[in-house]
Amino acid sequence: MFTCTGYATNSAKDPLAPFSFNRRDPGPTDVQIDIEFCGVCHSDLHQARNEWRNTIYPCLPGHEIIGRVTKTGAAVARFKVGDRVGVGCMVDSCRTCASCVAGFEQYCEKGFNPTYNGQDKTIGGPTFGGYSNVIVVDEFFVLRVSDKLDPAAAAPLLCAGITTYSPLRHWKVGPGQKVGVVGLGGLGHMGVKFARAFGAHTVLFTTSPSKIADGKRLGAHEVVLSKDEGQMAAQADSFDFILDAVAADHDVSQYLGLLKRDGTLVQVGAPEKPLAVPVFSLIFKRRNFAGSLIGGIAETQEMLDFCADHGIACDVEVIPIQKINEAYERMLRSDVRYRFSIDMSNLGAVA
Ligand code: NAP
Ligand code: ZN
Ligand code: ZN
Repeated sequence: MFTCTGYATNSAKDPLAPFSFNRRDPGPTDVQIDIEFCGVCHSDLHQARNEWRNTIYPCLPGHEIIGRVTKTGAAVARFKVGDRVGVGCMVDSCRTCASCVAGFEQYCEKGFNPTYNGQDKTIGGPTFGGYSNVIVVDEFFVLRVSDKLDPAAAAPLLCAGITTYSPLRHWKVGPGQKVGVVGLGGLGHMGVKFARAFGAHTVLFTTSPSKIADGKRLGAHEVVLSKDEGQMAAQADSFDFILDAVAADHDVSQYLGLLKRDGTLVQVGAPEKPLAVPVFSLIFKRRNFAGSLIGGIAETQEMLDFCADHGIACDVEVIPIQKINEAYERMLRSDVRYRFSIDMSNLGAVA
């Protein structure tokens, strides 16, 4: 074991604060990583504040991790010291169930081990995430990150990127289709970029008039203000696919009514309270309402390589870790353009 530093919270009501903790020494298949940047996902906030009612404290969030390899176990074959790498939402899974064998570790039938709020099977206690200086992860769950990608802007790809890439690929979004993305936050802005890159006619739905110009700059062909009934009515029955990335309670039936016959709305946003789904909005027109969770390791690598090849990354505001509590409040006000990325380089000086 060795001592690490990070920012964690001891309860749903406490702010994040400097925290010391232990990590395991790298085992034969482990990679030790010095963390350079970590994205701030809305899930970090939901989890730190126990909004999903399953938080283990102390809670040290962060699952959009980019860093450099500093040590490798004797059996590690795919990485060497100095490589730039990423770690997303998972640090382990059973690797033998049908989902794992199919490359869908996120749907592991025994449950994947999350990067934070999981159980450290080697030294005990909870897993601690990326708001920290160092992490140790089995190489299977470590991703290669091209040097073509800016590390601060690449970090949020590890969750916001894959969570939007995976459903757009699974439902085969492409040319000739009309695709909606709801909410221009961390996930939504990547949804817009990917839908556009995959060749779909891309429409952003936002509650924020101040984001209209950005929506277009990021790739939307059209931007619809979801609070404007006239603009919404003009879009009725016209979408093949809609990706809903809203983090708060909202009226999902507004969007179900915009789908064509057999169209699909995929929910990736995970608000604290259940959403109301009027069944007639599904029954008429045989519409589909589905969900999607991050993406598997192979698909995450595919997404990172796609981004490097197509010059795609996240729009980030880089912050020092000392600003994390302020960043959470701004995220709640939808005041982030479009992802906070924490620069970990000055963590050691304070913690
Ligand atoms: P975020 O950056 O805070 O973005 C959420 C966006 O939702 C906001 O920018 C805002 O967009 C919109 N919004 C916020 N409050 C709203 C309200 N009251 N009514 C309507 N729209 C509202 O959050 P994020 O990091 O992208 O995460 C989004 C959600 O996805 C979170 O619940 C998160 O936990 C979840 N998530 C799920 C997965 C998965 O695997 N399924 C993975 C990661 C995250 P506008 O200003 O444009 O309206
Ligand atoms: Zn996330
Ligand atoms: Zn499994």
